[in-house]
Amino acid sequence: MKALLFSQPGLQNLTFGDYQTPDIHEDEVLVETKCMGVNPIDYYTVTGLHGTDGPKMKIFPYPHIPGTEISGEVKRIGFKTKSNISEGDRVIIYNRLFDGTCVYCRSGLQNMCVNGGMIGIQTNGGFSEYVKVPYQNIIKIPDDMDWELASALPIAGLTAYNAIIQSGLKPKENLLIFGGSGNTGLFSAQIGKSLGSITISVSSKEWLSDYGVDHFFKNDQYLVENISRVTNTKMIDVVINSLGEKTWKQGMATVGKMGRVITFGVLTGGKLEIDGRLLYNNQITIKGTTGGTVQELIDLIELTRKESFRTRIWKKFSLEDSNHAIEMVFDKKREGRIIITNY
Ligand SMILES: [Zn+2]
Repeated sequence: MKALLFSQPGLQNLTFGDYQTPDIHEDEVLVETKCMGVNPIDYYTVTGLHGTDGPKMKIFPYPHIPGTEISGEVKRIGFKTKSNISEGDRVIIYNRLFDGTCVYCRSGLQNMCVNGGMIGIQTNGGFSEYVKVPYQNIIKIPDDMDWELASALPIAGLTAYNAIIQSGLKPKENLLIFGGSGNTGLFSAQIGKSLGSITISVSSKEWLSDYGVDHFFKNDQYLVENISRVTNTKMIDVVINSLGEKTWKQGMATVGKMGRVITFGVLTGGKLEIDGRLLYNNQITIKGTTGGTVQELIDLIELTRKESFRTRIWKKFSLEDSNHAIEMVFDKKREGRIIITNY
C-alpha cells in the first residue's frame, strides 16, 4: 500500500512510498481509509516533540506512518472480533488504545487507561491507504454522514464534547472559547449552543456566526471590557482555553464567580500562571481534559446528526501530498480544518 512515512523525527524526513499492507491479528480490523483530519498531535508526532517546550514523543514502530484522526471502510475482520462489525461498514476510529481491564477502563474512562496510548503514535496511523486497529476502536457512522464531517469527530469533536461535559455547562450560561475558529473551537461553539449557552469566541473570523457563535471578539486590550458588556457584568461561566501561556492570563481575567476554566492543550507553552486569590475569592475551578470516552464518541455522532453540526474545511490534500498538510497545521492564515482524502 501507499503511505506517508518517516524513519526519524523531522518534517523534512517525510516521504510518500510503499509500505507492506498490514496483516491483522484475530482481534483486529483492517480499515481502508477515506478521510483523515490533521491535528497538532500529528505535527508533534512527526517532529518528535510534544509542543515547543514539551517532552519527546514515544513513537512506535519505525518507519512510522502518522495520522490519528481517521474515517474509512472496514475491509477485513479478525475472527475474534466480538462485535457486530461487517466488511464494508462505514466507520470512524476511536483513537485511544486501551486495555479494557484497568480501573479506569472498567469505569468507561478509556481515555484514562493506565496502559493507554494513541493510534498513530504508539501504532501506525491513518495517513495511508489502509490502517489496522483493535476492533474495540471501531465505531460505526450513519450512512448519510459524509466522510469530511465523520473524520472531524474522533479528535476535534470528541475533545470539545468531553471538555464541555466536564465543565458542567448549563443552559443560559456564558461560554467563552479561545481559538474559536480551530478544530475544537468550532465544535465547542456548536455543542455549547445546542445546550442553550450564550457562546462567545475569541477570534476575528466573521464566518464564526454561521457556527452557533453569538459574539466574537479579537484578543486585544478590550476583550475583558467587551465580555463584561455582553454578559451584563456577570462574566464567563465556562472558559475553554487550550492555547496555553500566551492567552492564559486573558482567559483568567474573563472568568466570573463559580466559573470553570477548561484546558486540553498548551499550544503556546505549558507554564500557566494562577493567582490563588482569584481562585478562592470567586470559587473558580480549573480542570484539564483529554480526548473523550468511547461512549461519548457514540453520543457525539448522535448529537451531530440531531443538531446538524458542521465542520469547515480550509485545505484538502491527497495522500500523496499529505506531507504538506502536516506542514500547514500551525499556518497563521488557517481558516478551518486541514484534511487528507483517500478517495
Ligand atoms: Zn485501561
